[in-house]
Parts: sequence; structure tokens; C-alpha cells
Amino acid sequence: MTLLLGSCLCGAVRFEVTEPFDRVGMCHCLSCKRISGGAGTVSGRVRTDAIRILAGEELLTTYQPDAGSAKTFCSRCGTNLFGGGWPASPMTPVRLPALDEPFGEKVEAHLFVRSVAPWEVLPDDGLPRYDERAP
Ligand SMILES: [Zn+2]
Ligand SMILES: [Zn+2]
Repeated sequence: MTLLLGSCLCGAVRFEVTEPFDRVGMCHCLSCKRISGGAGTVSGRVRTDAIRILAGEELLTTYQPDAGSAKTFCSRCGTNLFGGGWPASPMTPVRLPALDEPFGEKVEAHLFVRSVAPWEVLPDDGLPRYDERAP
């Protein structure tokens, strides 16, 4: 059952998510800053098997940085879609900006806050903050 639909900026890649996210987090790590062009990535984590690519699979590129997990993006428009080592990993963080409908749940934790940039202001939202990944 389709729960959420997502796509990249150019529209060539489309995917669906068939199960609810088990958590939603914002990652402030240096890799996520670079791939996002911003403070980091905001993702909902779901079982990898609950993600189905509907179109544009040939445009998906997965990049494995020296440190951390592989990130997957559309090679035409650069939209970041999945992290966490998709498709080999059991769980996959799905980038919330790639979802087609506004997603109603809030971020539950800030990850890799050791990499918060001097120009970045962490919101005073009372959420748990972790130096690295969440336990
Ligand atoms: Zn694209
Ligand atoms: Zn990150």
C-alpha cells in the first residue's frame, strides 16, 4: 500500500514508501551539509524493503564517502533522496524534502551536532541532540 510518494526536482525519479517511518531526524554531519547545500538532511527512517522505485531508477547514483554511509541522488538534478547505504542496508533514511506531499510529523532528534557549523543556529526545540548518530 502506498503511504507516501516522492520524487526528485527534475521529476525523473519517482518512488513510494509503503510503511510509516520509525523515526524522523535531522543530521548535521559534514557529509549531509555538503550534499544538501544547507545545514544538513532531514530524513524519515523506514525499512529499505518498504521503498519502491517507480521511475528513473537508471538515474539513481549512490556515492560512498570515505566516512559514513552511502548517499543516493538523482544524477540529472542532484536531488538527495536516500542515505544510510540504500539499497544494501536494512533501514534507509528517506529525505523528507523529496516527498511530494507536505509531511506532518516533526523532527524527533538532532544528530551529529558535533558538526554544527559556525553559521548554523540549532533551534531551541527541546529535542534530544546527539554528538554522532542516535543510539
Ligand atoms: Zn532528478
Ligand atoms: Zn549526516
